[in-house]
Amino acid sequence: MNAFRPSRHGTRRPRVSFEFFPPKTAEMEVALWESVRRLEPLSPSFVSVTYGAGGSTRERTHATVKRMVEETALKPAAHLTCVSASRAEIDDVIRSYWDAGVRHVVALRGDPAGGLGTVYEPHPQGYHQTSDLVAGLKRIGDFEVTVSAYPEKHPEAPSLDADIDALKKKVDAGATRAITQFFFDNDVYFRYLDKVRAAGIEIPILPGIVPVQNFRQTAGFARKTGASVPQWLADRFEGLEDDVATRRLVAAAVCAEQVLDLIDRGATDLHFYTMNKADLVYAICHLVGLKPERPAAQAVAAE
Ligand code: FAD
Repeated sequence: MNAFRPSRHGTRRPRVSFEFFPPKTAEMEVALWESVRRLEPLSPSFVSVTYGAGGSTRERTHATVKRMVEETALKPAAHLTCVSASRAEIDDVIRSYWDAGVRHVVALRGDPAGGLGTVYEPHPQGYHQTSDLVAGLKRIGDFEVTVSAYPEKHPEAPSLDADIDALKKKVDAGATRAITQFFFDNDVYFRYLDKVRAAGIEIPILPGIVPVQNFRQTAGFARKTGASVPQWLADRFEGLEDDVATRRLVAAAVCAEQVLDLIDRGATDLHFYTMNKADLVYAICHLVGLKPERPAAQAVAAE
């Protein structure tokens, strides 16, 4: 007899959230806003906008988040890091978000100023750790604070237990949600969840899902961030380097398989790294039962 699959029966329609990055050029800006507009009717719990390495997108992140507040029904969260800035400078950024009506921040330490793989040096007058930044945010305003989590441990952490201790400090400082680094093997996520719960951490740990738009690029990023790339995933994309159409279909199938399994195993919230591309994420959301809300008059006319 077949096992009952909640993902097939709409009994576990998940909540979703979407991550975007701030655009660098006018063309990228158009692409971002097309994606935002396409995904907005799916009513995500929130959307988030990243903060470039070393605070390099400070103004662009702010402008993007502000426009979301002013022109959409979305609830945007601004990413913010501790890198290369004093507390006073970061506190100014935090206040400017509060003044713009932003009430949700994704608080991060950020990567070392010298790039991934170099040693992290906190700014002498800065927030030294993410837990300090979380506390700083809470002192300035009643922000909702989300933080990161690493199912395969952060590359700089001596062990997974040490990493979970760091997560606990962030929760103790006021974080109420974590989003994971991306992963491809769902067992990795569920094993991590068991460890986190055993450590007494009760906040939601949202699985971070990366649709593989470009395998080589994703694998390169995974290597740097400590996320493992299973051989079966490499095999699925092998030979498709010059075949964009098939690659896209395979990417959709891979992502669908992962998401449906997460739902069947109890995940209630999914966070998508959209890379400012809506199509694949939109299709996956449709597959799990998330459809645009139709205005009442349009719904009646269509009956
Ligand atoms: P942290 O929680 O600060 O941990 C970093 C390391 O320090 C770990 O090894 C941890 O174990 C250790 N550590 C932390 N606190 C303590 C402590 N109190 N005592 C001992 N050890 C400790 N980067 C950007 O630049 N911009 C972004 O917008 C961005 N968004 C991200 C979103 C998500 C969901 C994720 C998962 C990552 C994101 N990053 C972003 C990357 C992140 O900045 C890097 O991975 C960075 O190296 C670590 O910052 P963190 O806040 O994730 O980790």
